[in-house]
Amino acid sequence: MTRYLGPVLLLLCLTATAPAGLIADSRKVAETESIYADVSDASTIISTIDSGLFTSYRGKDRAAWDKVYREKRKELAEHLSKLPSQGLSAGDAKAVAAMRTQLASFSDTISAPFSPANHCQDAKRRDLDYASLRKALVSCFVEVGGNLSFEGGKINRQGSLDLLHEIEEPERRKAVFAALDPLWKAINGNNEPDSPYRRMIAMAAADAAKNGSEIDRAARDAGVDNAEVEKWLEQILDAWRQSTSDQPVEPWSFSYQGAEADRLLAAAIPRASLQPINQHFYQDLGADLKQLGALYDLDPQPGKAALAYTEFVTHGRMVHGVWQPTIARVSAPYARGGLFVLNELVHENGHVINITAIRNRPAFVDWPSSLFAEAFADVPSWSTYEPAWQRRYLGNDTPEQLSLRALFSVVILDVAWSLFELRMLRAPATDPNALWTEITNHYLHIIPHPELSWWALRVQLVDAPGYMVNYGLGAALTADMRQHIQEVLGPFDTGDARWYRWLGEHLLQYSSERDTRMLLQDFLGRPVSPQALLNQIHRLGSRHD
Ligand SMILES: [Zn+2]
Repeated sequence: MTRYLGPVLLLLCLTATAPAGLIADSRKVAETESIYADVSDASTIISTIDSGLFTSYRGKDRAAWDKVYREKRKELAEHLSKLPSQGLSAGDAKAVAAMRTQLASFSDTISAPFSPANHCQDAKRRDLDYASLRKALVSCFVEVGGNLSFEGGKINRQGSLDLLHEIEEPERRKAVFAALDPLWKAINGNNEPDSPYRRMIAMAAADAAKNGSEIDRAARDAGVDNAEVEKWLEQILDAWRQSTSDQPVEPWSFSYQGAEADRLLAAAIPRASLQPINQHFYQDLGADLKQLGALYDLDPQPGKAALAYTEFVTHGRMVHGVWQPTIARVSAPYARGGLFVLNELVHENGHVINITAIRNRPAFVDWPSSLFAEAFADVPSWSTYEPAWQRRYLGNDTPEQLSLRALFSVVILDVAWSLFELRMLRAPATDPNALWTEITNHYLHIIPHPELSWWALRVQLVDAPGYMVNYGLGAALTADMRQHIQEVLGPFDTGDARWYRWLGEHLLQYSSERDTRMLLQDFLGRPVSPQALLNQIHRLGSRHD
């Protein structure tokens, strides 16, 4: 089954009505797009090699792919410079614009995502530019965050966050929280005004003034302005504040308090079960991950990216009338199982099925907006916190209240980070510890510890300042999409064989061609709203006094 009808229809239409010049130009654009697809593939294959997944691909090693990359990139630049800027069909003009933007992002040096060659130590240097300072700070998550000391042994950041969900004794929880201190210090020193993070966020704000920020882009994609984004985030946080106990909680106990469902299901989700459960669920949704050819690299390795992510290996395209599928890969450092990790793996595979569902001309076989991508990936992953899902895939469930609490205590931290970054980018001289303390104390009832930079837990905060809004605001889109899919197809927490094909047709096939705001407006039949998420959080029930 293929939905790739675009060029065929376009050609029919052109032969009927278009002048010869337009057809010739369209052919030139198509040639350019084929070169573009080669550059894109070479780029993502090199970064896959650098991630350690394999050392050669299709018989070529890194050096050979690097040669292809440089030659094809040069060829692409030449072709793009020769294409006319005027007189193209609307579709061609849009494709050319997209390729010109992407050409600028094909850099000289490719490395695996989140594993830069820079060193954490460099973050102390005053002469680094914005990009280099961010790379140095990302390295801190690998070097320092990968080597934390706890109870006489070594753990990584993910391991310590897992333990914060699990350890029963408050004093040991406090100790594992304290084990993160070297990471916080590497990112934000002693919170002095010229700490590495505070210098970096000032540069981020300056860059945003010139080029726009992640917040600006997410607001545009949601169809609102930044003030409205801030209002939505505050409304979501307020819904949590009102729906949960107002008993003050220490920051090292916040996750524990939310994670009772995780603890009850821990034994049902050993590390080895993660992939089979994940595959089973997607199979039931009509997406056979094995058949889709996705590649997985899920074990922890020294120096490996400190977080889970999904990326293209190759980009799908038509070859002699047959669609060659997108190959996606997932990288993660999973040492353990559990519901939190399983939810994240299902999220990553939400990205996999998103990009493998793209059916479009090469210029648009790329990620959709970050806001859409993160929001969509949670559409299937939120099901893992529904008792019906747990019964089917784990053979064991938890009470709905506990499950919802586990899910939304993770979501609400993303929303808190979103508000934090929005305000930091607006006023970069703000004391980040004071701001984080204010947000978490007011909305999450967390006891103030302004002496600790404990907000510095997410790689995204230094890799792409403002990116957290794609999760925090994205949660509103996730809830909206889940609600709409359920209205049209019915519940899908325990599978629906039509699900993947239907979403491919209605939501995923266009990818970067379509503006997220219009795509979702067409899909939902109205603009995006935070109401579905607010309803979900209110499911947590009224205050338990
Ligand atoms: Zn994601």
